[in-house]
Amino acid sequence: MSGMSEIMASSEIYKILLDHYGPPRWWSDDPYTVIVQAVLVQNIAWKNVEKTTAQMQEKLSPDFIASVPIDELEALIRSCGFYKTKARTIKTLTEWYIRKEEIIRQYSDEALRQEILSIKGIGEESADVILVYAFHRPVFIIDAYTRRLLERLGYSFSSDKERKKFLGNELPQDAMIYGYFHWFILDHSIRHCRKKPICEECPFLNCCRKGREMQSDA
Ligand code: SF4
Repeated sequence: MSGMSEIMASSEIYKILLDHYGPPRWWSDDPYTVIVQAVLVQNIAWKNVEKTTAQMQEKLSPDFIASVPIDELEALIRSCGFYKTKARTIKTLTEWYIRKEEIIRQYSDEALRQEILSIKGIGEESADVILVYAFHRPVFIIDAYTRRLLERLGYSFSSDKERKKFLGNELPQDAMIYGYFHWFILDHSIRHCRKKPICEECPFLNCCRKGREMQSDA
């Protein structure tokens, strides 16, 4: 990491986002629903996921999903794309959840992360989404939006491990704060910090390297 002297601490970034957007809503209170949603949301808009899981209603339970034929599950989640792969991952995760539900609390954050990561179809981002939103573990979710925002604000990191360390440095170890942070970055990246950013009225405009460049180019 380099060139950090004049730029913000993670707590300042968080405060700017919280002040600007207000507290976001949390994911479902049901850990199993969050697990399924974390798979469905891969490469698809969140609104498709909400619609699909709302339509599933009582079918969104570990017992139902474990016993339903795979082609029926594929049909249920078809509108979320990549439905064959996602159906297989949801099946495997469901079997894991049924087996381990009673002892999940005993796992350390890192042990639970490794356990979830060992499930086929679950990458780093999905594992961290499940850790934070389903099991309320204080873990940062690093995705392409997070990398892009930090880079535009002027930070230079060589790995996601460095990004996580920076984000956690100035904030309490609190799953809700970490979960909020991810939502804020997602929301901010959809509204303002898009591939082609809309810097006007962005809350970071005065302290963002890319925002300043965009203004001087205009
Ligand atoms: S000023 Fe522009 S580039 Fe910087 S965070 Fe805001 S939208 Fe993104």
